[in-house]
Amino acid sequence: MENPYAINKIGDGFWAIEERGVFMYLVEGRDKAMLVDTGFGGGDLKALVEGLTGKPVFVAITHADPDHTGGCGQFSEIYMHPSDFGRYYERPENKEKLIPAWEGDVFDLGARKFEVVHIPGHTPGSIVLFDRANRMIISGDSFQYGGIFMFGSGRNFAAFEASVNKMLKIRDGIAEIYPGHDGYPVTNGVFDDLLEGLRILKTGAVEGRDTGRPMPAKLYECGRVKFFIGNQTT
Ligand SMILES: [Zn+2]
Repeated sequence: MENPYAINKIGDGFWAIEERGVFMYLVEGRDKAMLVDTGFGGGDLKALVEGLTGKPVFVAITHADPDHTGGCGQFSEIYMHPSDFGRYYERPENKEKLIPAWEGDVFDLGARKFEVVHIPGHTPGSIVLFDRANRMIISGDSFQYGGIFMFGSGRNFAAFEASVNKMLKIRDGIAEIYPGHDGYPVTNGVFDDLLEGLRILKTGAVEGRDTGRPMPAKLYECGRVKFFIGNQTT
């Protein structure tokens, strides 16, 4: 099997694993390790992760898009917000049993804890994982400076805006944000930039542009952030 992965050790017990522009994160606690997202599934992710940590590994999924769930079949303990279960099982190859991760649930790794914060919009079941003690979140695709996919079924701008506003209430407790694309970490200024971007988008002044990528959507650059928007976006 090919090895499409690049590993970057960010800190003690904390790694980013990149696969073709998608970032996964592995966090090791005293008792367990949590793998956040599974990428496209293009290689032996399980062996790679087990080479980095000797602790038992479970998977937490930020959202059910295929670039974040492709390697789930290699793992047995997979948590996801139930509002994305349907999205996951839309793909016939996805047969794994999923375990619900609800708002407020806590993943306790031993000496390190992550709370589930539900942030629908990019997908109905998008979540961030919030390490309150270390003032960081792992954010999936929702809070980043790369183009955020808001085309196709299940995307919802009104929910997305409500989720950004929800994050503003806890923003002072967040110093670092680790997203699924584009670069990490980003700061909590991304929430302001996203709200400003949404305001600019609503003025209707931004023209979508074709990026040449094979997708039924155009790129809308709105201040410091950008969205891919197609015809089905609500
Ligand atoms: Zn993604």
